[in-house]
Amino acid sequence: SAKKAGRNRFEFFNDRLAEGMHENLMLESALRVAVERDELVLHYQPLVCFSDIGMVGVEALVRWQHPTMGLIPPYKFIPLAEETGLIGDIGLWVLREACQQVVKWDKAGLNIGCVSVNISVQQIETGLLPKQAKEVFQETGLAPSRLFLELTESTIMQDPEKAANAMAEFKEMGVKLAVDDFGTGYSSMAYLKRLPLDRLKIDRSFIKDIGQDANDEAICKAIIQLAKSLGLETVAEGVEEESHAEFLKALGCDVAQGYLYSKPVPALELAAKWQKK
Ligand code: C2E
Ligand code: MG
Ligand code: MG
Ligand code: MG
Repeated sequence: SAKKAGRNRFEFFNDRLAEGMHENLMLESALRVAVERDELVLHYQPLVCFSDIGMVGVEALVRWQHPTMGLIPPYKFIPLAEETGLIGDIGLWVLREACQQVVKWDKAGLNIGCVSVNISVQQIETGLLPKQAKEVFQETGLAPSRLFLELTESTIMQDPEKAANAMAEFKEMGVKLAVDDFGTGYSSMAYLKRLPLDRLKIDRSFIKDIGQDANDEAICKAIIQLAKSLGLETVAEGVEEESHAEFLKALGCDVAQGYLYSKPVPALELAAKWQKK
């Protein structure tokens, strides 16, 4: 009967829901100890200058090397970390690890330029980040000007006052600031003008159809012009094709990041590639 089918459907849904919740709880408790057990790893993706394809920096991107599940990408655990507050510890680990790595590369004679680290909104909300960053600079000896912090428009717009204050503190230290995934959120032009920004990163969604989608091309052009008139550097995310690179370079885009140059790779691999060049 329809009633029975309905109940079965409900039970099926309920089981699936319970399964999902159980999975999440398991993941959460595993993530809780992942930092202590040293299971997180950073991969690094080069940022290259359009003018000579030289490396100007790397973005540090976190992965979870789970003992049985293998390498887990950030979209599978960062949202959970953000919901549970674990992002505070994870974010600090990422910051410290990335800064340490740049110092190690420096000591090995590899100047990779600046390292970019992604920041979640919760790290701005707690207000702990500026002090943590100062401590990391002291511990590692890294110059603050070698660090880029990447914030999305939604992170900035969540609490613009708080974000502006944190950003002013970072600016004071000499840390560089980038807006990540630019064009996908709701950012106010008034804030763009007032914030001490250094760089806009054009979201990959506007890059991937260059050559096929005139609207995306128009958006890229507009973002690059806006950035130029505000005195900001532009980075194109997700550059996969030589034709995309040519288009963006002709518009005056400064820096490229994408599979065309390299996927994110472990620190050792990046060093090996860099040394060959
Ligand atoms: P994001 O900050 O926008 O990082 C760029 C993402 O685009 C990376 O994905 C990178 O692998 C991918 N990408 C770069 N070039 C290409 C390309 O040519 N083609 C394609 N298809 N993809 C490309 P990933 O490493 O999976 O990271 C995804 C997101 O996870 C990041 O986006 C960032 O929002 C978040 N994330 C990663 N690490 C951290 C972290 O340490 N803290 C926080 N809060 N978020 C992080
Ligand atoms: Mg980023
Ligand atoms: Mg991005
Ligand atoms: Mg993105």
